[in-house]
Amino acid sequence: MGTDDHAFRLGQVLVVCAPSGTGKSTLIEMLRKEFSNFSFSVSYTTRAPRGEEQDGREYNFVSRDAFIIMRSKGAFCEWAEVHGNFYGTATKPVVEMLDQGRDVLFDIDVQGAKQLKKTFYKGTYVFLLPPSQDELVRRLEGRDTDSERSIKRRLGNAAGEMSQAKWFDYWVVNDNLAEAYQELRAVYLASRCKPSLRPGILGSVLDTWTDNG
Ligand code: ADP
Ligand code: 5GP
Repeated sequence: MGTDDHAFRLGQVLVVCAPSGTGKSTLIEMLRKEFSNFSFSVSYTTRAPRGEEQDGREYNFVSRDAFIIMRSKGAFCEWAEVHGNFYGTATKPVVEMLDQGRDVLFDIDVQGAKQLKKTFYKGTYVFLLPPSQDELVRRLEGRDTDSERSIKRRLGNAAGEMSQAKWFDYWVVNDNLAEAYQELRAVYLASRCKPSLRPGILGSVLDTWTDNG
């Protein structure tokens, strides 16, 4: 019996988008803790490192010139200018991780997700919604990492980002954190069962069949 074929699974793309402050980082961290099969797509950015961030871990930090050269060479499957800085995903490492059966988790903005869908159209695209505007304000203020100006800008962008929610595959409202996490993990687990990710499984079961079985 082809047990190897049976077990083999291609990696899948999981993209999670949300207006800033909704709880995207919190929920992504919970997924990465529970499931070891995730690789994180490390983006290229022209912004400077913040706090403890390390080159190659949170981001690949590059100059504007280096970013523009990579972009002109077609290295990115998506890129966007967010808050005055360039951000982009290099295609090659993502394809390599998927071929090795790793699931690749993306933390990118809505414009980038829309572009990514053109290349990785079989991926799973999840949009997280805050329960209300008041609660989003409370979370942004409670997080205590952003200036008042930055909070205003993030809130100002939220409605525009939510207007893009309609083309995503799944919506999860992050009201109660534990419930939102159960929904997100259910989406992930269900998406792992897509036939396109298990090309050998049907054949390996049929190989065990005989006419009089
Ligand atoms: P994002 O990555 O979407 O910008 P964060 O994960 O940083 O958001 O969450 C913003 C703030 O809201 C954090 O202080 C986080 O602890 C808090 N938070 C996240 N989810 C919930 C929830 N379901 N209920 C209340 N607070 C939450
Ligand atoms: P930050 O600078 O706070 O780390 O990220 C700012 C925004 O850029 C976030 O919304 C984040 O999801 C988005 N972002 C990070 N990496 C990428 C990327 O490679 N492509 C795109 N389009 N957005 C990204």
